[in-house]
Amino acid sequence: MDDRTFRNAMGKFATGVTVVTTEFQGEVKGMTANAFMSVSLNPKLVVVSIGEKARMNPIVKQTGKFAVNILAREQEDLSRLFAGQLKEDRKVDFQWVNGHPILPDALANILCNVHSSYVAGDHTLYFGEVTDILMKDEAGDPLLFFEGKYRSVAKE
Ligand code: FAD
Ligand code: NAD
Repeated sequence: MDDRTFRNAMGKFATGVTVVTTEFQGEVKGMTANAFMSVSLNPKLVVVSIGEKARMNPIVKQTGKFAVNILAREQEDLSRLFAGQLKEDRKVDFQWVNGHPILPDALANILCNVHSSYVAGDHTLYFGEVTDILMKDEAGDPLLFFEGKYRSVAKE
C-alpha cells in the first residue's frame, strides 16, 4: 500500500489539534500533534505519538515531562507554527505552570510526567501521567483537522 492511501484513510478520522510543549535546557520546544488520546482514568493517563525524526522526540525522552495544549479554533496559526509550516520567526508568549510552559488561550492544558514510552514503527508513543489540568471557564470552539485541512465545528 502506498503512503498516500494510508494518510488519506487516516485523514477521514476527524480530530482536534494539540501542541505538545516542554522545556529543555532553558528553551521551550513545541510540536503540533493530532495523534493524542485519553487512555486511563485510574491512573489518569494520556498518550501522544511522536515521529522518530521529530526534534521533539529526544527532547521529551530527556525531560520526562510534557504538556498537551488543546487548541481553540482561533489558534490555527499556532498549529501551523509548531508544525513548521510558517516561515516567519514568531515569538510565542508561554505561561508557566508548575515548571511547564503552556499556551494560554488553549481550550485545555494537560500537564504530564512521562509514565512510559513504547516505540511503534517510526513513532514513539509517550504515555503521560496527568499531574495538573487547566481549563477555560467559558466554552470555546475547538480547532479541527479532517482530510488534511483545518475545520470548524458546524453551528447548529
Ligand atoms: P521543529 O521543526 O523543531 O519545530 C516545529 C516548529 O515549531 C518550528 O517551525 C519551530 O520554529 C517552532 N517552534 C518550536 N518551539 C518554538 C518556540 N518556543 N517558539 C516559537 N516557535 C517554536 N507529528 C507527529 O510526530 N505526531 C503527530 O501527532 C502529528 N500531528 C500533526 C497534526 C497536524 C495537524 C500537523 C499539521 C502536523 C502534525 N505532525 C505530527 C507533524 C509535526 O507537527 C511536524 O513534523 C513538526 O515540524 C515536527 O516537529 P519537530 O519537533 O521536528 O519540530
Ligand atoms: P495528511 O493527509 O498527511 O494527514 C492525514 C492523516 O494521516 C493525519 O491526521 C494522520 O492521522 C495521518 N498521518 C499523516 N502523516 C503521518 C505520519 N507520518 N505518521 C503517521 N500518521 C500520519 O495531512 P497533511 O496536511 O499533509 O499533514 C501535514 C504534515 O503533518 C505532513 O508532513 C504529515 O506527515 C504530518 N502529520 C503527521 C502526523 C503524525 O506523525 N502522526 C499526523 C498528522 C500530520
